[in-house]
Amino acid sequence: MTIKIGIVGVGKIARDQHLPAIAANPAFELVGVASRSGGTVDGAPTFTDLDALAAGVPGLEAVSICTPPQDRHTIVRAALNRGLHVMLEKPPGASLSEIADLPGLAATKNVALFSTYHSREAPAVAPAKAWLADKTITAVRVRWKEDVRHWHPGQAWIWEPGGLGVFDPGINALSSLTKILPAAPFIVRADLSFPSNRATPIAAQLDLTDVAGLSISVELDWRHLDKEMWEIAVDTTAGPLLLLGGGAKLDIAGTKTEDPDPHAEYAGLYRRFAELVPRREVDFDLAPIKLIADAFMLGRRIEVEAFEDQPAK
Ligand code: NAP
Repeated sequence: MTIKIGIVGVGKIARDQHLPAIAANPAFELVGVASRSGGTVDGAPTFTDLDALAAGVPGLEAVSICTPPQDRHTIVRAALNRGLHVMLEKPPGASLSEIADLPGLAATKNVALFSTYHSREAPAVAPAKAWLADKTITAVRVRWKEDVRHWHPGQAWIWEPGGLGVFDPGINALSSLTKILPAAPFIVRADLSFPSNRATPIAAQLDLTDVAGLSISVELDWRHLDKEMWEIAVDTTAGPLLLLGGGAKLDIAGTKTEDPDPHAEYAGLYRRFAELVPRREVDFDLAPIKLIADAFMLGRRIEVEAFEDQPAK
């Protein structure tokens, strides 16, 4: 039996990753999409919103929510209240307090709820976690730098409150970091650089630690015009570990492995969702978004040059 699934919000990530991942996974059948702008997908009808999708597709069992974080909570609650299994793009919401009710609601409705963090499914993340499990870590340095104009062309919501700014990709770094480290890190200092005309930061410099006093520095920057740099470097007494390419490459004390499959992460997410649905299980981890909320709570605001989608000529 396949799981009849719909997608809500047919934007960049839905087209780049969710549609191919669903098509490649025999556990799922795409039965419709909800798109406020009328986005169409081959082989599945389009509806204006979740209500119309649920009414128009008898037997709809699950939805994958691919809208921006703002307003997402209303959609997720509506889906859970309809008894649908729900898979959520990262971040799980626009604030911590608004999403606190979701696991309980999913349990009450006896449906699966999955807050996804695609970077955790990158091929090198699980081996990195396994290798670090019994090592003594002495320092961690995260550098997550990319060109916002390349990766988020014209996306106005990322600059609005709740859009998270540079933490939108930064949550990928923090989700991998919280997955591979044996002890939970927490924020001690944050410098947040806000363009003078924007509500969310374009860069952030974070200092974190853990109960053992480990030094963890995290540098996030959207003003990086060279090839993107998505890396986590971990020093240990047994040698260094480097997680590169967002988790596609691993270098452990000089021994390198690489798996450049661009669809591995979302294939992994849908495999996991296919496990959760029959078990009606909740997998809802807040660790990455808690770090972001704390960065905003502890952050020092630094005003930097205004940002325009089209650079001045
Ligand atoms: P996007 O290209 O802007 O697409 C979002 C889609 O959501 C829109 O096309 C729109 O689709 C729908 N939507 C509903 N309410 C909206 C609103 N108020 N403002 C804008 N769009 C709204 O964004 P995206 O890059 O796909 O990102 C969506 C989510 O996926 C975000 O949480 C992001 O962090 C996450 N994500 C993105 C990437 C990436 O590489 N872009 C990677 C991983 C995760 P309809 O017109 O069809 O309703």
